[in-house]
Amino acid sequence: MSDTIFGKIANGEVSADLVYEDEHVVAFRDLNPQAPVHVLVIPRKPIPTLSAAGTEDAELLGRLMLTAAKVAEQEGIAEQGYRTVINCNAGAGQTVYHLHLHVIGGRPLQWPPG
Ligand code: C5P
Repeated sequence: MSDTIFGKIANGEVSADLVYEDEHVVAFRDLNPQAPVHVLVIPRKPIPTLSAAGTEDAELLGRLMLTAAKVAEQEGIAEQGYRTVINCNAGAGQTVYHLHLHVIGGRPLQWPPG
């Protein structure tokens, strides 16, 4: 199943500016970046949103986080600092229903986010 745009990126049907991929996850640049570095890390498995993940996905969720840290290193923002975000469901602004972890950095980030 790959009925979302991110599912299509994950299976190679749609191209994206990939920064990392392996058997389990794919990371690519956001088309509408909110900072100098804005990368999305997705599982190849089409989990629609964080609240749909189960205990069987625990290792995969860990891989998403570790990939975010790897991407931050690769992009040169690890030392300066960066933010990871998962928008879960419409009220949080989720627009694509294939789980994705935003990695945002390269500029000062405010807290709390909007
Ligand atoms: O968390 P949310 O669902 O709002 O994030 C979706 C993100 O996917 C947005 O930042 C949007 O710019 C990005 N996007 C993309 N390529 C697409 C569709 C959406 O990078 N084809």
